[in-house]
Amino acid sequence: MGKYKIGILNGDDIGLEVVPVAVKIMQTALKKYPQAKVDWVELPVGYPAYKSIGETLPGKTIDTLLELDAWILGPIGHMAYPKDDPKAVNPHPIIRRTFDLVSNIRPTRSYPSIKSLHQDVDVVIIRENNEGFQPDRNMYKGTGEFMPTPDIAMSVRVVTRRNSEFAARTAFDLARQRNGKKIVTAIHKNTVFKLGCGLFVDSCRNVSKEYPDITFDTAVVDTFAMQLVMRPQKFDVVVSTNMFGDILTDEAAGLVGGLGMAPGLCVGPRYIMAQATHGSAPDIAGKQLANPYAMIMSGKMMIEWLGIRNQDKGMLECAQNIDAAVSAVLNDLKDVTPDLGGKATTNRMGDAICEKLLA
Ligand code: NAD
Repeated sequence: MGKYKIGILNGDDIGLEVVPVAVKIMQTALKKYPQAKVDWVELPVGYPAYKSIGETLPGKTIDTLLELDAWILGPIGHMAYPKDDPKAVNPHPIIRRTFDLVSNIRPTRSYPSIKSLHQDVDVVIIRENNEGFQPDRNMYKGTGEFMPTPDIAMSVRVVTRRNSEFAARTAFDLARQRNGKKIVTAIHKNTVFKLGCGLFVDSCRNVSKEYPDITFDTAVVDTFAMQLVMRPQKFDVVVSTNMFGDILTDEAAGLVGGLGMAPGLCVGPRYIMAQATHGSAPDIAGKQLANPYAMIMSGKMMIEWLGIRNQDKGMLECAQNIDAAVSAVLNDLKDVTPDLGGKATTNRMGDAICEKLLA
């Protein structure tokens, strides 16, 4: 039996292309560290699971995830699922909620060779993942959206001290670990949302007292959105509530080459899930056009997080090696996908990274 058990959930559309590439790269990198042996478990999810088992999130998948250390989940194309079948649920909010994956860590990094609006960008946005305005996960029962009359729609926003503090702690821990400016900026609109954003900022400020070595700052979301476009280099680690974070992380991806360049990791007190920011991109699915970077770096973050949690030097080195191999392939631009100006297929970009790992 291996030291770690990691799940593979391909998801939909381009997930079937980018997840296998990311897994191949992790497996190649792990070959150098036999002591960090991993048992990989492939699990059905999404439309392929619906076609074969009749459910987009089979109970067996959930039961197996409970026994794992971590997993990689591909993008979910739930907009294409049948609307009238209760077995065709959108799996990823349910997974995030069931496994208490409170913090969604989304880094944005520029590479000198990749065309982007700015250079020297290195900012990480932590988004609270399970409450806020998201009606598909912010209630115990029922939904956070309802219509008292056909002409009135209401959306309830949930902010709790528990999840706000958890997200803040993720941000401060990260600011301490990484080689950055040692600043955490909490994003809010407490000028208007006096209670919801007020509680969020208050929770972040309380947590900041445990980290005297990290500077704590706050910014109003609209001003921050503008500053992120004009001077992204100013920021280090940013923490925000769910919907603000969802929007800001796509904006940040746009600064450095688009959604193919936006990885992510969902973390909670017990479980870890690698999940890129992008969706299932049905417009390019099956054409080998998808940039696998986001999914590969999400996998790298998962390996790194397991290394940090378990104080496992092998896993940490493995993550560093993936990072270096990816940078090398991006730097010479020979084997990158069309969104980055290259001509390589998804698989070819992945193979080029494997070759660097084995060199
Ligand atoms: P999307 O992120 O799938 O695509 C937006 C644009 O970015 C498209 O032009 C697409 O081709 C491009 N793109 C995305 N990932 C790319 C990659 N790796 N390489 C190159 N180009 C890439 O967003 P959408 O089109 O609004 O949504 C499609 C489906 O994905 C919908 O069903 C939506 O609900 C779902 N979605 C899922 C997630 C998730 O699983 N986390 C996130 C967002 C959207």
